[in-house]
Amino acid sequence: MKIALTTIGCKLNQSEIQDLKKDLQDAGYIIVNKNQMHDLHIVNACSITHGAEQITRQKIREVKRLNPHSQIFVMGYLNKSIPEINKVFKNKEGVLKYIKNRYKNQGPIPNSKFPIPKTRALIKIQDGCNFDCSYCIIKKFRGHSKSIPSDKIITQIKQAEKQDVKEIVLVGVNILLYKFGKTDFPALVKMILNETKIPRIRFSSLDPRLVNLTFLNLLKNKRICPHLHLSLQSGSNRILKLMNRQYTAQKYLQIVKATRKINPLTSITTDIIVGFPGETEKDFQDTLKFVKKIDFLKIHIFPYSARGLRCEQEEVEEKIKKKRFNKLNKIAEGQKKKFLKKMKGKIMPVLFEQKETGYAPNYILVKKKTKENLANKIINIRI
Ligand code: SF4
Repeated sequence: MKIALTTIGCKLNQSEIQDLKKDLQDAGYIIVNKNQMHDLHIVNACSITHGAEQITRQKIREVKRLNPHSQIFVMGYLNKSIPEINKVFKNKEGVLKYIKNRYKNQGPIPNSKFPIPKTRALIKIQDGCNFDCSYCIIKKFRGHSKSIPSDKIITQIKQAEKQDVKEIVLVGVNILLYKFGKTDFPALVKMILNETKIPRIRFSSLDPRLVNLTFLNLLKNKRICPHLHLSLQSGSNRILKLMNRQYTAQKYLQIVKATRKINPLTSITTDIIVGFPGETEKDFQDTLKFVKKIDFLKIHIFPYSARGLRCEQEEVEEKIKKKRFNKLNKIAEGQKKKFLKKMKGKIMPVLFEQKETGYAPNYILVKKKTKENLANKIINIRI
């Protein structure tokens, strides 16, 4: 029984497919590259936007064309199915249980343990969300927040350490909701700092409404990467309210200022939705004005796509969304250049992921011309 795996979307999806790969290999199934012959292809879907769902369907058609005899299982949620799909499972546990039952006589072959990829490992700490942002369908298929026991997380990080992994990324749907027993997110991070020696700890997407002083204090530790993916969505308080985000642009700015007080080179990346229903030209201009205050390293811009949710506001025309996308994109490019300028001449400890390229702690991509293979080394580099 040979299985191929494909994932679409964010670091959370990547970590889930990585975990599934490990579980399948531990159970004796052979994981092959999607270009090799296989019996089953599992696709971890992303349906956060229309575009992401379209990419998922394209990938499914592509894998079917490459290997027409393979079954296709989807993990996750799709608004619209296609005939190429044989089965859909809500999560990793569902797909694993089904495979173990359905294919138990198809000769799992003992296989070597799945090695955690060197350099950086994605560690899933929670799933689901307790909030109700008006544009979001995540809760529909991932439910309320559920956290992974802290001892399991520590064991996984210690294993990664043994495999010489230098950086971990804590991932989840809304990681600041982490709560297992009395351990909340800051307490978990302190445990990781105390009980492991992993050189670098990075956080995935952060929800501004949950950022507090205890969290900010964590950033004083040199092992925590000064890079926050702090989801903004809009710079207009009126739109943030319609989105039910429960923070204001001013609170967002305060967080950014506080992080840069701790380390002026803290990079901020974000997501912004343009053309949210009811977004007027003034709201959009407020977003542009606000963005200019931050110096973002990267802005992921999403033209709003309705995901079957009820909305009382007037839809924004597609051509206006496109125009707003282009305008914001231009500003985002300028912001990136501005932030990168600040880096010039600074000495940064770069973790090389490949022979000549790696990342500074604040997620600046660094290239160094050298004959030496620098992969998986942390080296001080003048930018
Ligand atoms: S916080 Fe994130 S995951 Fe939770 S409802 Fe809002 S957008 Fe969705």
